[in-house]
Amino acid sequence: LLDIDDLYKSYGSEDVLEGVDLEMDRGDVTVLIGPSGSGKSTLLRCVNQLTDIDSGTVALDGTDVTRPEADVNELRKQVGMVFQDFNLFAHLTALGNVTLGPRKVLGMDADEARERGREHLEQVGLLDQADSYPAELSGGQQQRVGIARALAMDPELLLFDEPTSALDPELVGEVVDVMRDLADRGITMLVVSHEMGFARSAASDIVFLDDGEIVEHGPPEQLFETPEADRTREFLGRLQ
Ligand code: ATP
Ligand code: MG
Repeated sequence: LLDIDDLYKSYGSEDVLEGVDLEMDRGDVTVLIGPSGSGKSTLLRCVNQLTDIDSGTVALDGTDVTRPEADVNELRKQVGMVFQDFNLFAHLTALGNVTLGPRKVLGMDADEARERGREHLEQVGLLDQADSYPAELSGGQQQRVGIARALAMDPELLLFDEPTSALDPELVGEVVDVMRDLADRGITMLVVSHEMGFARSAASDIVFLDDGEIVEHGPPEQLFETPEADRTREFLGRLQ
């Protein structure tokens, strides 16, 4: 589904991604870990074209999304994103946030968008909060609305950038549970997260990124129990 080949990205004179190769099949749940500044967010941003790349290719379903004539709007329909700080529209209700994309981008009529939006809110356990505004919701609830909003576009691939790191510890679990549920349902997810519980139980692959390079990539049991690289061992040691 996703094929990243020899991706380079710099900001000014700072090389952020230096030859990243990553493939994902449909249904894969890939968890990206690595130190602050290693390029995790930048990699996600390159996948959904929030930023330009310097060289290499990022292909989705065999189509190079980085070529100049690629249609960014078409890509945004296929790739959903869940942000660390939720990014909800404060003036819209939970349901309003979830139905906006389908109506504006997919051209869905309002009734259908509402009906489907309610289903997506139900999936994240928030049907009873459909008419609440973000300010009336807890952080965990806001993030679950953020996930419902991404699901409402029916994307091929969902990107998560540290979806629980802005949450109070007691609210992390409800968001992780929703993400685990999506993983169980076969949704393809590329997740930047240091939630090791999620990574161990839901990931098909763990990718360790350091200094803009993929140092190690493998199934969770291998990467966590028998990491090959010193850098991986050292990083995992610091997470404990
Ligand atoms: P964190 O764990 O702190 O979120 P990260 O792995 O997501 O880190 P990135 O946000 O991808 O790291 O940043 C990688 C490097 O690129 C950092 O040195 C950062 O300062 C730099 N960088 C990121 N975005 C920009 C930008 N828009 N302009 C200039 N430099 C940037
Ligand atoms: Mg980041």
